[in-house]
Amino acid sequence: MTVEGSYTPVFYWQGFVYLAWGDRSGRVGISHNPGLDRTFWLQYGYRQFSLLTPPLPLGTAAFLCEWLQRYLPLNGEPPWQEARALINKARLKLGLPPWPFPVNDLPAPRPAPAQAELALVQKKLAGRILWREEIAMALAENKGVVTTPLEDLLHWLYLAGEVTLLPGVGYDPNGEPRCRRCGQASRLLKVACSACGSGDCLVCEGCLTMGQARRCRPLYARPWPARRATGRPGREARPRLKFTLTPAQVDACREAENFVFQGREKECLLWAACGAGKTEVACGTIAAALSLGKTILYACPRREIIRELQVRLTSIWPELRILALYGGSSGKFGEADIILATTHQSLRFYRRFDLVILDEVDAFPLSEDPMLYYAVERARREDGQALLLTATPPPGLIARVRRRQVKVIYLPARHHGHPLPVPEFLRDPFLSQPGARHLPRFLVNCLDQTLAEKARLIIFVPAVKLVEEVVAWLLQERPGPDPNRPWVQGCYAAHPRRDAIIAAFRRGEFPVLVATTVMERGITIPRLNVLVLYADEERVFTVNTLIQMAGRAGRSSAYPTGRVWFLARRISPAMAAARRQIQEFNHLARRRGYLLADEK
Ligand SMILES: [Zn+2]
Ligand SMILES: [Zn+2]
Repeated sequence: MTVEGSYTPVFYWQGFVYLAWGDRSGRVGISHNPGLDRTFWLQYGYRQFSLLTPPLPLGTAAFLCEWLQRYLPLNGEPPWQEARALINKARLKLGLPPWPFPVNDLPAPRPAPAQAELALVQKKLAGRILWREEIAMALAENKGVVTTPLEDLLHWLYLAGEVTLLPGVGYDPNGEPRCRRCGQASRLLKVACSACGSGDCLVCEGCLTMGQARRCRPLYARPWPARRATGRPGREARPRLKFTLTPAQVDACREAENFVFQGREKECLLWAACGAGKTEVACGTIAAALSLGKTILYACPRREIIRELQVRLTSIWPELRILALYGGSSGKFGEADIILATTHQSLRFYRRFDLVILDEVDAFPLSEDPMLYYAVERARREDGQALLLTATPPPGLIARVRRRQVKVIYLPARHHGHPLPVPEFLRDPFLSQPGARHLPRFLVNCLDQTLAEKARLIIFVPAVKLVEEVVAWLLQERPGPDPNRPWVQGCYAAHPRRDAIIAAFRRGEFPVLVATTVMERGITIPRLNVLVLYADEERVFTVNTLIQMAGRAGRSSAYPTGRVWFLARRISPAMAAARRQIQEFNHLARRRGYLLADEK
């Protein structure tokens, strides 16, 4: 059954729950085309066949099926009455209205699909979890042609245990709805559904950009074949690195390689200082995994990083096929030696990779999002490994490291061998709001120092509305020589000229930028100082945010000693914890001899 969606026909699954019975035992099943199931089960001697429900959306049918499999005795005489009673109970559990019992006209057996077509679909789906439309695209992209309806081929493979069939939004065993693609349970909308015709279909908001996950829409999944079966030998992929690793990176690299070579632990955190070059270490891990013939996914929430990485890795390994997947990228279903993907795109993989490298585990806007872990968890093979990269692991991950459930590798020093700038606390109990009084003396000092050193300064503020206010406040106190070329400008995520302003700041066209925390990552500017204004605003400035912001300073070897100031009315626990963590990294780096000798 297909309906016209806004631009692509969306296949929706509506079907029956049935009972097939042989001499002494039976099976519960679901089907959009029960004739196929009859043919399939006849092979096993199940001659009795009875539909138990009217056509239902997949999520509902799947729940009823699992429910019956759990509670219905499936040997002896066929339990028709018990099945009816159990179905009613399950229906009430989901809060669904009663439905008429189906007229049981036995579906005529349908011919089994051709082996060649089944094999083709099986091959295309390997290592993926996809909608029917996406499977059709994967076939088309690789010039695969099938004449049997795709959903029938997939259903036959499902009956044969070769493919998993999942509702886009399904129910937990206790009847709680959950998105089967992104794993989240809170942002599910009840909608009147033109596809399945039900008034309370469920749609997931969490992964909407990847096409609607609905209760009536089927996902098909198949694990990647075991490595032995692919017969692919490991390749000696010597990376052509255009950089020499620092002692800190060499050590971290060796540990990360051992993690891959030994394969004992499933998860490993690479806890790197901001600007310490975790990607270089990840490249070492990739080389190790390639030499063992392992499949690799490098996932990251931000598409800019994926694109940058594609260029970088292509120059390191020109002979390898490197596929980058992000919204709008082409060739989504191609083959590759290394796959780079945004977190969202990773949701399309199923038990595929031996090694998943997950960059920026904690990055905005996914820091509290279970989707990230869910995607990694499912993209890697059951015996696969995950390497998590970040400068600021989320608290849950740190707790697991402390309990020794996750291995940890530290990368505490930057390439230039200078310690991380330690934030200086500037406490001003009467710190004024923008415009209320003259600029605070501390703020003026920081500005003067920065300008005297011919450096640049980012002033982080805790709210979007403060950006313009602080800019106006500064300009009012210090108009500057040319009102048409202001020395201070503001920027935030939704700013209409965001990219232009950042680019101008990078080029050094003005020395001071006022910004929200959205600028905390991904910005590397030489000769940069950092000031966090109202740093004690704990709701915005968490430990990790403060560390990331401080981590913008002193990254380049031309100006490795950038300054970091936290200006606040009081010293918040987050400020103290951030400073402590930065100091601990410096101690560790010094103890291991990673810092320059003249640094004290
Ligand atoms: Zn979802
Ligand atoms: Zn629906």
